[in-house]
Amino acid sequence: MESKGSILLKLLLLLQYLSLLCAAQDFDFFYFVQQWPGSYCDTEKSCCYPTSGKPDADFGIHGLWPNYNDGSYPSNCDPNNPFNPSQISDLTSSLQSNWPTLACPSGDGITFWSHEWNKHGTCSESLLKQHDYFEAALSLRQKANLLQALKTAGIEPSGGSYSLSSIKGAIKDAIGYTPFIECNVDSSGNSQLYQVYLCVNTSASDFIECPVFPGGKCGSDIQFPSF
Ligand code: AMP
Ligand code: AMP
Repeated sequence: MESKGSILLKLLLLLQYLSLLCAAQDFDFFYFVQQWPGSYCDTEKSCCYPTSGKPDADFGIHGLWPNYNDGSYPSNCDPNNPFNPSQISDLTSSLQSNWPTLACPSGDGITFWSHEWNKHGTCSESLLKQHDYFEAALSLRQKANLLQALKTAGIEPSGGSYSLSSIKGAIKDAIGYTPFIECNVDSSGNSQLYQVYLCVNTSASDFIECPVFPGGKCGSDIQFPSF
């Protein structure tokens, strides 16, 4: 006969194992999403430059989004762990350059970063605390220089149009992984290069091939507006 104590111990170990399993299966991968500011601004909705001034004419971060392999994603995972600017004060100036807000009215970025942390960041908090999460995104941004990748292939942000396959090919050649391209529509109805999705492993350290692509379609000719 097993003693009650040893059964209890086994139960406790089982519970601990199950909770570890749960933590490990919070999500399957991240989308790291960068945005062309010229396309955000060149729509009916328009944009407002941040209070720190006009961002560089370069891709900015939109977000680092936990996702599932079936295409769905978790959101707003922990209302008890809201965005706290004092935890990332050392990153503020880097965030202002690399993760600029373009929403109106003009802001300092806190509202945008707070939205991204509360909606997406809290869903990977078991692996990345707030500071690690923003630091990881900034480090991925340094590893994936999309504008340089496109320019190397002769694709320039001067209002001209390029094929979807030439844009994907240029990024794959430079970064090593196939991106997903999201387009939006400018005020005269043209399809334009809006956001680029790359997939990232669950520790947010390395790019991977995407397990699944988002939905959505671009036109066959995609405009790359200036900013
Ligand atoms: P998400 O909720 O993370 O999927 O992001 C979508 C929201 O982010 C929308 O409300 C967008 O208007 C907003 N958004 C996208 N890009 C920016 C930006 N550069 N600055 C401020 N808000 C943005
Ligand atoms: P389709 O024209 O939708 O049949 O897509 C042809 C191929 O291009 C498929 O492998 C799609 O997954 C891929 N594809 C379509 N749209 C995009 C996009 N916006 N970004 C990256 N790949 C895409």
